[in-house]
This record gives sequence, structure tokens and C-alpha cells, in this order.
Amino acid sequence: MSIAVLSVASECAPVVKTGGLADVVGALPAALGAVDVDMRVLLPGYPPVMAALAEAGGGEVVLQEDDLFGGPVRVLDGRVAGILMLVVDAPHLYDRPGSIYLGPDGRDWPDNPERFAALSWIAARIGHEGIPGWKPEVLHCHDWQAGLVPDYLAQRGGGAGTVLTIHNMAFHGPAPADRIDRLRLARARYTAHGFEFWGHLSALKAGLTLVDRLTTVSPTYAGELLTPDFGMGLDGVMRDRRAALSGILNGIDEEAWNPATDPMIAPYDRPAGKAANKAALRREFGLPESKGPLCVVVSRLTGQKGLDLLLEALPALLARGGQLAVLGSGEPALEDALRAAAQHRHVVAHIGYDEGLSHRLIAGGDAILVPSRFEPCGLTQLYGLRYGTIPLVALTGGLADTVINASPAAMAMGVASGVQFHPVSAGALALAIDRLCDLWEDRKAWARMQRNAMAQPVGWQGSARAYAALYRETARTA
Ligand code: ADP
Repeated sequence: MSIAVLSVASECAPVVKTGGLADVVGALPAALGAVDVDMRVLLPGYPPVMAALAEAGGGEVVLQEDDLFGGPVRVLDGRVAGILMLVVDAPHLYDRPGSIYLGPDGRDWPDNPERFAALSWIAARIGHEGIPGWKPEVLHCHDWQAGLVPDYLAQRGGGAGTVLTIHNMAFHGPAPADRIDRLRLARARYTAHGFEFWGHLSALKAGLTLVDRLTTVSPTYAGELLTPDFGMGLDGVMRDRRAALSGILNGIDEEAWNPATDPMIAPYDRPAGKAANKAALRREFGLPESKGPLCVVVSRLTGQKGLDLLLEALPALLARGGQLAVLGSGEPALEDALRAAAQHRHVVAHIGYDEGLSHRLIAGGDAILVPSRFEPCGLTQLYGLRYGTIPLVALTGGLADTVINASPAAMAMGVASGVQFHPVSAGALALAIDRLCDLWEDRKAWARMQRNAMAQPVGWQGSARAYAALYRETARTA
């Protein structure tokens, strides 16, 4: 029998996306549909979501609140981009221009605690009483934005089982402690064992301490979260909850990211097909011929992603005749540093967010670089594998789990699919770039790695089964 699950998230591709979270939330319903999970997605009604819903014929009102944190709320039931969605229509919280998290000044919206508490409040209500004709047996909460779900559900006396997936432990969703009452939370939970975190309220910690089961997006990151280096101050909480924690690897959307059918590139199903895409990329950016590999990066530009290390190690790549093309946006200092580096004729930096260009870079590049200081799973190295674009990655999180390093042993056995480096420093990265260039010059070795990469499973099949099994263990209706 199928199991009913409500996925609760602040982003969902293709409707609204700032990072990998959206890709995962958008991919899960179809992936899990294949293993008998009936999933709907609860999403805030930001302008693009409301517009997509209206375009799809609007939605049916299935739930209402007269006043939730300062205004009325309706929940609309509809289908958007093939996904069954429940949209929280709350103009006072979500109807504003620009980024979904940041105001025009580049800072978090001051009422972010209320905006995502509202999402969690509605999720808990649906988990308790359901909507006409449908009641979830599991609430699958994603990141801090859904962290308060178990608290609100407990206040109602329970309902569905709860799962919380940590996509990135760096974001806690803090709120000043004086908002506890306004956010309708129980003061008794404002302790070190509850949602108190260094004098603040932490929405993520609320979820971590109360949810039935915890997952994160790779087995290695699950282990890392238990350590001070990666736990972001919550490693003690994670150690307490170790028995409830598991790591389930993200997959990619194999339709959107299929080199054989990708409409945004010159399609190919063998590594040789990359040549036309590389030539097109050179033309697009006026990149001259070079003897080394053309390396690409598609990334948010933040400290997490280690692009400052890449800039430091860049001379090692240029010295070998390599080239670099970066697509990214984020911290102004990194954007400026990349623009400055792009003065070099073998370096290109495109600052911005561009889906089409991300496909062209990954199809046309020889290697994709992911030098992250931490990486819960990472998607671009998976796109790289599928497109025969050799990943050079830091040995951390999901990057450790998805790339087979070209060690002497792996090369001897012919199983390598990329290059890993450790520790995550500019020096180690420069050495890894050198190794990458050695491999590039050994045409047979490179071709073998490309074949291995393209044959590696990077879809959702295995992980969908793992989630379905977890849901069955967690399912509850009262
Ligand atoms: P994170 O979620 O930490 O940003 P992931 O690797 O898990 O990192 O996911 C990032 C997603 O966002 C990928 O789908 C990637 O292709 C996409 N992406 C990141 N930056 C850009 C950009 N500037 N333009 C287009 N796509 C981007």
C-alpha cells in the first residue's frame, strides 16, 4: 500500500531555487512515486510559486487561518510542474520581491523566523488533522525552515511521524529569544536540551532534538556532523541523536541532466561528443586554444565552496596550460576576486545565475572543480560524472562518497572516476591540479576515467528505496 508523505521545504525546483535543496525537494516526488510513496510538497507562496499555480489553473483552498503571525493564510492544493503541491498563500509573509531569504539590503528579512514558523505551523496542522481526502503519515522536513514542525505537532498532541533532513548544518535559523511567545512556542523547550542555542532560539536545533528520525544527504557528512569540525556547534546534539541519524545520498534529475538528450547543449552519449561542446564554449567566451584541461566551476560563491583556495592555486593550473571558466554568484569579495582573475586570457568568470550556461559549461569542460571546505552532498560533481567531465573534489562529505580517486590502486584496477584532495588547502589543491594535468596528458587513462564516470549511477533509484524504507519505519497517523 502506498504511504502518504508531506515534504515541507522553503524551495522546490523548478519553481523556486537558490541551491541544491530545491533540486532535491523537486526530484523526490517523482523518484519516490516510483517506489509507492504518495508525496506532496508544502511550499511558501512566494510570487513565482503563486504565478506558477495561477498558470496551472489556480488551486483549491483546503485550509485557512484567520491570523498567522500578522495576517490571514490560505493553503491551496494544486499541481505545479507535475508536482502535487500545497501552497501557503500568506501575502503578509511571502509576497515580496527579490530573494526568498534576503531583503533589498542583502540581509535576512527581519521576519524570517515568522515566515518559516508559519510554514512549519501549517505543516504540523496538516500532519495532525490532514486536508479533505488526504492525511500524511510522515512529515518530511527539510532544513531549519521546517525545524519547528515537531514542536507545533507536539502542541497539537501529535499526528504524523517526523523526519528531518539536514541539507546544510551551517544554517540554524536563529531568532531572538524574546520571540518565543510570538512564535507560539513552549517556553519549557527553551533549554540546552531543547531549542535554546547560546541565548538564541534555533529552529534547526528545535527539529534536531524532537524529530523522530534524522537524515543527511550523504553517509560521510552524517559521520562528519558528529565532530566539532563540521557540527557547527551542534555536534553534541548530533552525538546524542546518533541512533536516529542516517545518511542517504542525493541523486540528480536524470532527465534534466542527460547529455544524450539535453536541449541546452550539443547532445552526446560518448566522451568524444564533448569536443563540439568544448569548441562552442571556447567561441562563446573567446577562450584561446590551450594544451591543458579546460576546468569549470558552477557554484554559489561563499566561504563553504573554497573558491578562494582555487584562486590561490590557480597559477598551478595556468602553468600546465590549463584554463578556468567559473559561473557563480554570491559574496561580493569573491565575485570581485574572480573578476580580477578573469583578466588573464585563459580565465573566464561569469558572475550571475544561469541555468543554460551551467549545462554548457559542464558539457564543454574537461574537468569540474569542487574544492569545498565542507559539502553535505554536492550536485555539480554528479553532473560532471554523468557528462564525462572529470571531477576534482575535496575529500569531504558527499564528494568523498561519489568520486573514486585516481589513486595508484584505483588506476591499476581501472575504476577511478576523478581526483580527490586532502587536506582542504590551497597547497593540496595545487598538487591535485598537477595530478589532474598528468592524467590529462595520459590520454588512455583520461578516457578510461571518463567512461567510468559516465557509467556511474547518479540517479535516485537506490536513495528512493532508502527513503521509502525510512518512511515506513516512521509512519504514524495519531
Ligand atoms: P549548494 O546547495 O550548496 O549550493 P549543490 O552542489 O548541492 O550546492 O547544488 C547547487 C545547485 O545549484 C546545482 O544544481 C548547481 O548547478 C546550481 N547552481 C549553483 N550556482 C549556479 C549558478 N550561478 N548558475 C546556475 N546554476 C547554479
